[in-house]
Amino acid sequence: MVELIHGLSPGLVRSNLERVREEIAACGRDPQDVEILAAIKYVADDELVALAQAGVKLVGENRAQDLARRARTHPGLFAWDFIGTLQSRKVRSLLPYVRYLQSVASDSALAQLARHGNASTEILVEVNVAGEGGKSGLDPPELEAFLERCTVSVVGLMTMPPYTADPERSRPHFAQLRQLAERNGLRHLSMGTSQDYLVAVQEGATIIRLGSTLYGRSAS
Ligand SMILES: *Cc1c(COP(=O)(O)O)cnc(C)c1O
Repeated sequence: MVELIHGLSPGLVRSNLERVREEIAACGRDPQDVEILAAIKYVADDELVALAQAGVKLVGENRAQDLARRARTHPGLFAWDFIGTLQSRKVRSLLPYVRYLQSVASDSALAQLARHGNASTEILVEVNVAGEGGKSGLDPPELEAFLERCTVSVVGLMTMPPYTADPERSRPHFAQLRQLAERNGLRHLSMGTSQDYLVAVQEGATIIRLGSTLYGRSAS
């Protein structure tokens, strides 16, 4: 486990956010149409206020216990999305806190959503577009039938392509996710991390999920 980040400077995070927004605009997209989600798994609890001061509005958490604790102790600070591997037995404890469960990809999770979700529950379905073995997410051919089995509102798709030093390698995966969303009439595309967010924005991302890019010194 890596050490959690302490001593974040709101000014640094703010300038990183501004830089990302400028890059989004330079791609020909309206920055209003691309939400920047701060992935907070690297960040200590007591840094969340600094993120809010920096202008972060939306955060994503990978562990259910962390999300519930942090959301409970920081009410009203952010909107919270769950972006980690979703264990179905955690669905119920997450629902009171999350805006979107972004990473739904199992029938056991759907069963829990059918039991504990309600009319305002909104999810994204995670798709393993790269077909990586051992990774979470549905195989693309399974998507349509899975959507038919969902009893709560599906607002989009999410994907996490393989690690790469070359962002262009993610482009075909993002393009495929967009096609799957279009074919199924889904609005949100959660795709792109620090390694490839600009390619994701070019391919239509509506939510990019950023960690290191926001917390590190800017490369330029
Ligand atoms: C950690 C994480 C991110 C952010 O990754 P960075 O490379 O630090 O930008 C995005 N999505 C998910 C699902 C993550 O776990």
